[in-house]
Amino acid sequence: MYNVLIIGSGCAGLTAAIYAARANLKPLVLDGHEPGGQLSLTTHVENYPGFPEGIMGPQLIENMRKQAQKFGAEFKAGALTEVDLSKRPFKIIAGKDIYEARALIVAAGASARLLGLKGEKQLIGHGVSTCATCDGYFFRGKPIAVVGGGDSAMEEANFLSRYASKVHLIHRRNDFRASKIMIERARTNEKVAFVTPFAVEEILAPQGHVEGVSVRNQQTKETQEIPVDGVFVAIGHDPNTIVFKGKLEMDSNGYLLAKHGSLTAIPGVFVAGDVQDHRYRQAVTAAGTGCMAALDAEKFLEEHKD
Ligand code: NAP
Repeated sequence: MYNVLIIGSGCAGLTAAIYAARANLKPLVLDGHEPGGQLSLTTHVENYPGFPEGIMGPQLIENMRKQAQKFGAEFKAGALTEVDLSKRPFKIIAGKDIYEARALIVAAGASARLLGLKGEKQLIGHGVSTCATCDGYFFRGKPIAVVGGGDSAMEEANFLSRYASKVHLIHRRNDFRASKIMIERARTNEKVAFVTPFAVEEILAPQGHVEGVSVRNQQTKETQEIPVDGVFVAIGHDPNTIVFKGKLEMDSNGYLLAKHGSLTAIPGVFVAGDVQDHRYRQAVTAAGTGCMAALDAEKFLEEHKD
């Protein structure tokens, strides 16, 4: 039986672990299917406070993990397959392993959708990115592509135009899901070129880093190559919340709904990080909400000593 079980070992989960461990709660962290979360998929992080020279994403995560372990947090590999939140202690099942916990912190994160192209995942950090705020700065004066037709793609194209010499906004249809104002902003941005209706068929990286994309016109079926140094995939995120369907309140996109800080409708269940945040999605905001969840869990356990 654990006092606190934390689902997810990204920035939010690890910060919750540091706080819960320092409160002597001996938390258990379940790593999940993407140990370390999205930071472990990125390279240089320059906007996490406290590192004037920047820090590599995987190193930042490793530091947080060590910090949590130092204070007594326990880690187990395994991804959540089932939860029973109908009574306390909560039951958490990860494959063959069954855990019980007096309080639960859900910090399962959200996974950026990828295009599913060959080599795409391996090229993350070598020209492929799913986070403009994290990586835009590395493409100063270089041509890049943004893929997608929603608000994220428009926002990223505009944001990246501050750095890039040219932004090719590639979308598979001539219509966009993005709001009119966001489309208009991108259209009037002279650095942004709309490439529609084109689907990316291949990311060209003969030397192990992105040199271009091959795209196919969805109407004429013609292909062409666009030389770019970076490809920003902005086709949405999926919160890792399938297991919580019908158990915790979520919005229409599957993001968990937090009320009053990290609290949910179920006393003793708290949420933190990107699993409940599609707006900010930053390492530092995830860490902040991880801290909030641990403090809320600590207070809850003090008030419920059963
Ligand atoms: P989204 O609205 O779901 O748009 C995803 C886009 O990616 C769509 O254009 C879709 O194309 C395309 N796409 C999906 N899978 C693809 C694939 N396999 N290959 C190529 N293209 C693919 O996602 P989002 O833009 O991340 O926005 C999510 C939510 O956050 C929305 O509600 C949005 O309004 C909100 N948001 C708001 C702001 C803001 O207001 N500042 C900023 C960002 C996000 P199709 O259209 O052809 O399906």
